[in-house]
Amino acid sequence: MTLLLHRDLRRPPARALSASGVRIRTSAGREVIDASGGAAVSCLGHAHPAVIEAIRRQAETLAYAHSGFFTTEPAERLAEALVGDVPGGLTRALFVSGGSEAMEAAVKLARQYFLEVGEPQRRRFVARRQSYHGNTLGALALSGNLPRREPYAPLLGTAFSHVSPAFAYRYRAATESDADYVERLRAELVAEFERLGGDTVAAFVAETVGGATSGAVTAPPGYFRMVREVCDRYGALLILDEVMCGLGRTGTRHAWMAEGVAPDLQIVAKGLGGGYQPIGALLVGAGIVDAIEAGSGTLMHGHTYMAHPIACAAALAVQRVIVEQELVGEVQRLGRRLEARLHQRLGQHAHVGDIRGRGLLMAVELVADRETEAPFAPQAGVAASIKAAALDRGLACYPGNGTIDGISGDHVLLAPPFVSSAADIDLIVERLADAIDAVCARAKG
Ligand code: PLP
Repeated sequence: MTLLLHRDLRRPPARALSASGVRIRTSAGREVIDASGGAAVSCLGHAHPAVIEAIRRQAETLAYAHSGFFTTEPAERLAEALVGDVPGGLTRALFVSGGSEAMEAAVKLARQYFLEVGEPQRRRFVARRQSYHGNTLGALALSGNLPRREPYAPLLGTAFSHVSPAFAYRYRAATESDADYVERLRAELVAEFERLGGDTVAAFVAETVGGATSGAVTAPPGYFRMVREVCDRYGALLILDEVMCGLGRTGTRHAWMAEGVAPDLQIVAKGLGGGYQPIGALLVGAGIVDAIEAGSGTLMHGHTYMAHPIACAAALAVQRVIVEQELVGEVQRLGRRLEARLHQRLGQHAHVGDIRGRGLLMAVELVADRETEAPFAPQAGVAASIKAAALDRGLACYPGNGTIDGISGDHVLLAPPFVSSAADIDLIVERLADAIDAVCARAKG
């Protein structure tokens, strides 16, 4: 095969032929439930007529106009749809082609902001271990995903450092309350700011709900309010990465709305275009744009395909369907069902350590020993085997294996489309549980 795909070069995956709703059909004649929406992308499922029509119309009207020369109607309307009425101060949207590009733009815009306001010493970014912010060199330098970082370590910038994730299942002591745990994380964050020099930190960066690296990890109550306070105290920006958890996926329009804080900069992608077009966005607070307008008056960062009209038209159609059909409410309803079914079927499973997440972003953590919470050995490849066993059963789910401080954890991520039926949710859990049973029996034996 001349096509080079990522991951397994020796065993190329099945060819996807067509898809509609929550099902993908392969050339082998198999029908697969898209239970992770790819990687939490396909929020509307496949072949949604309103999105197809929007793409067709935009392609006929204006397929491309360079954003350095022109604005376009779909780009303007999409920006309005994303930040026109959002509480918390985000007032502008910049469109790029995906999550990694959005994170690069966030880091560069934060840097430019501090140059414009006369604080050039702010050049450091603090992120968290076991995080993922993208695969380009800048976004990877920010990411705390060790397996993805390590091969490129000599190429990664040095302005980035990492503190502990907020991951109660693995790192909160048995004797610690949530409040104590948050205070311990506060002390660590403050110590890191002090170590770097508080006035050298440009921003703290975090996924509001952890994505594929940690597996749908929600922060303990009060964690993000603590982070906001520390950033404010030191004059640093808060950048939230909602590429995976944003735009309704976790049951609120933005995941930070459930945390009682607002970021200065936010990135979204994946569910923005729902997989119909590659698109990501950087949402920017008013103060940052005002400072740049009053200063140099120009953004220093750009790409050829920024604010691509067809991508913006597709994303606008996706976001309109979500609003018109009140799908965020549906995410809450289906999310409760998914969580309940997972607990019913897997809650007492000998190799399930944790079931976690919010809305339609849920993960199941697999462990060798439920009592001690000891993970399977990384070389056992449990999560990858569950992905394969699930595919054999007509289910696509997303495997994850995060390594941090010597602890490796296997999990499987579920992020079904918002348009799934209750029966789809039940079938997803049945097939996943079957695959887990089969793989764990083998891994144990
Ligand atoms: N940020 C998060 C939280 C992600 O999950 C991802 C991708 O999985 C990215 C950033 C990078 O996005 P992309 O793969 O579109 O470049």
